[in-house]
Amino acid sequence: MRKLLLRMLVGALGLLLVLTMFLLVRAWQVGQQAELMVPPEPLSVAVDTPALIQRFAGALQFPTITHQDPAQLDSGAFWDFQTYLKHHFPRVHRQLQREVVGGLSLLYTWPGQDTTLPAVLFLGHQDVVPAAQPEAWTHPPFAGTVADGYVWGRGALDDKLGVLGILEAAETLLGEGFQPVRTIYLAFGHDEEVGGQQGARQIAELLATRGVVLIAVLDEGGFIVEDMIPGVRQPVALVGVAEKGYLSLELTATAPGGHASTPPTQTAIGVLSYALVQLAENPFPIRLEGPTRRLLEHLAPYTAWNMRLVLANLWLFGPLVARQLARSPAGNASLRTTFAPTFIEAGVKENVLPTTARAVVNFRIFPGETVESVTLHVQQLLKGLPITMRQTETGAFDPSPVSDVSSEAFQRIAQSIRRARAESPPVVAPYLVPGATDARYFTVLSPNVYRFIGVRVTPALLATVHGIDERVPIDEYVQAVRTYYALMRALSGP
Ligand SMILES: [Zn+2]
Repeated sequence: MRKLLLRMLVGALGLLLVLTMFLLVRAWQVGQQAELMVPPEPLSVAVDTPALIQRFAGALQFPTITHQDPAQLDSGAFWDFQTYLKHHFPRVHRQLQREVVGGLSLLYTWPGQDTTLPAVLFLGHQDVVPAAQPEAWTHPPFAGTVADGYVWGRGALDDKLGVLGILEAAETLLGEGFQPVRTIYLAFGHDEEVGGQQGARQIAELLATRGVVLIAVLDEGGFIVEDMIPGVRQPVALVGVAEKGYLSLELTATAPGGHASTPPTQTAIGVLSYALVQLAENPFPIRLEGPTRRLLEHLAPYTAWNMRLVLANLWLFGPLVARQLARSPAGNASLRTTFAPTFIEAGVKENVLPTTARAVVNFRIFPGETVESVTLHVQQLLKGLPITMRQTETGAFDPSPVSDVSSEAFQRIAQSIRRARAESPPVVAPYLVPGATDARYFTVLSPNVYRFIGVRVTPALLATVHGIDERVPIDEYVQAVRTYYALMRALSGP
C-alpha cells in the first residue's frame, strides 16, 4: 500500500515538473518575440510646429456641435469651418477632388497611379459634442487656446485632431510632390456624435455604388497608453480592430396606481426595481476571446517573466486572468456585453402610486453576441413580470466584424506607428473599442478597418474626451501628424 502511494506521489510530482517545464518553455519562446523585434527606421519629415499648432488651435474655434435633435444644428459653424480648411490647406483643395455628401460631410479623392489597386481611406469627423459647463473649463471650450504646453478646446482629441492631422499629412505630402500608388480618400463626417447616419453612412454608401474596394480604413478609436496596462513597461499603441454593438431598451412597468396609504404588494416602481436587480444579478458571461485575447497575446512578450508565464499560457490561466481583468470597468467592458441603466422615471406626487415606471437600459454588445440575442436574454429574465419592452429611437446595431491582425495593412500600420516614434517605439497591439465610431459603416468596403490616433494619452487626459478641459499636448499633436504622414505613405504604397 505504501509503495503504491509513493509511486503515485512520484508520478504526480513528475507530471507537475513536466507541466512547469512546458509553461516555462512557452514563456521563454514568447519572450523571444520581443528580442526579434527590429528597431524601426526613423521617420524624417519637416514640420513647422508653430504654424501647425496655430492652424489646429484655429480649427477648435468653430462650434461644430451636433445635438440629438437635428433642428438644433448650426450649419453655419460647419460652413465656416470648411472655409477655414480651404484657406489653410490650399494644395489639398487645389489638387484633390472635393465632394460634399449628406449636406455637410466631406469626401476628398486623391487618385493613385494605379487605380486598379484597392484604395485606402482616412476617416475623421468634424462634429463635436456640446460643452455642458463652459464656465468649469480652464480656457473657454471654443477659444482654441494654446497655453501651458497644450492646445485646449472641444474637439482637441475627439476628433478635430483627426481631421486636421489627416489634412496636414496630405498637405505636406503634396508639397513634397508625393504621388500615391493607391488612391487615397479622406472622409470627414459631420454627425458621428449622433450616429453618423447622414455623414459616414452616406459616404460609405456612395463609395459602394462606385464599386470602390479598400485595402484599409483608418478612423479614430485607439491611442497610445502608458502604465495603463499592468506589467507592461513600454508604451502601447492600441489599434481598434473591432467595436462593440449598441442597444438601448426601454422598460415600462405598469400597475393599477392609487393612494400610497393602501399600497398593493406590487407597485410599478417595485416591479421596475426588481427587473433592474434581475439584470444586474444575471450579467452576460465573461469571455476572454477575440480582440481582448489578441491584445494579451501581443503584450505577453513585453511583460516581466512572472506576468509572461501567465500570459503565454492563457490556455491554462485564461479564466484567472479574465476574472482579474474584469475587476476594472474598462477591463470588464473588454470581456463581455455590459449593461447600464441610464434613465429612470416614475411618480408625480409623494402620496400617489404611479401607474407606470420607466427605465432605459443601455447595452454594449460583445463580438459574438447580437442585438437579437441580447434582447432575447432580457426577455427571458423578465418573463412573467408586468413589463413591456421596446428599443429606443436611437437605433441598435450589432458588433462590428473583427479585422485581421495578420493582414498586410495591419503590419503597415504597426510599422508606421513605430517609425513615427523611433526613439521609443510603442508596442502595437489590437484591442476592442468599447464605444462606437463612424468606422463601422465601412466594414462592407474592407475587411481591414482599424481605429487609431497617434497621440499618447494619460487616464486624466482621456477623461477630458466629452468632458471638461479637453486638450492635447503640443508635442503629441505634432506626433499625431507625423504618424498620419507615415501611415499615408505606407498604406498608399504598392
Ligand atoms: Zn469621435
